[in-house]
Amino acid sequence: MPTESASTNRLPALYLGHGAPPLLEDPTWMGELAGWSANLPRPTSILMVSAHWQTAPMAVGATTTVPLVYDFYGFPQHYYELEYRSPGAPKLAADVKALMADNEPVLDRPARGLDHGAWVPLLAMYPEADIPVLQISMPDLDPAHLFEIGRRLAPLRDEGVLIVGSGFMTHGLPYIGEYWSGKPGGPAWSVEFDRWAAEALAQGDLDTLFAFREKAPGMPYAHPTVEHFAPLFVTLGASAKPDAAPETAIEGFFLGLSKRSIQTA
Ligand code: ZN
Repeated sequence: MPTESASTNRLPALYLGHGAPPLLEDPTWMGELAGWSANLPRPTSILMVSAHWQTAPMAVGATTTVPLVYDFYGFPQHYYELEYRSPGAPKLAADVKALMADNEPVLDRPARGLDHGAWVPLLAMYPEADIPVLQISMPDLDPAHLFEIGRRLAPLRDEGVLIVGSGFMTHGLPYIGEYWSGKPGGPAWSVEFDRWAAEALAQGDLDTLFAFREKAPGMPYAHPTVEHFAPLFVTLGASAKPDAAPETAIEGFFLGLSKRSIQTA
């Protein structure tokens, strides 16, 4: 478990796996997420960047009442009745807009609430829902562009904002096979991609990470579409030391997918 930040105010930037609603009934993963947040300074607000919201140009979501988006299908009814009534974060939305470059317009999407990539981990980490939350979209899936957005968001960390990139270190859902039924560990493409990512992160090798489509073993099976890996680049951009090894907060596998979750300096 990571040690507490040296500063009482500056928050790390996180990249985490958000699973799916059944994560909320997995005591191991729930405990890992709750233990992680308990070791962080309390955020003044939380900025979520989830795999499940892409718009061009970039957009900020709801800032007054923040509804939930139940963007998953075929799950038991009770998952569609979960609530997370966090306050909105209008000041944070204004700050995000002010920090973006002139060529990076930011639209308002006041009706857009938190998707499950945002609210599932929030329910695990901050179940009281008493910290203002803002979700922003990813304008595209280009690693260098997302890294630049993270770099511009970085000063928010000094104001106690917790920046969270929410995806999944591996996400080859069509190829999980027997791991659906609870077989421990993961398939070779998942294990190999996870190991590759862990080594590249430990070495602070951003060039290699940016070129994951070509360089990573396990592709394209680990990410047949890449939106669950992309939020990592916002997180790395928001790091004060993007080429330093991040701390690993969670590792292991869930349904064959890597749960590896990190926090940057
Ligand atoms: Zn997802």
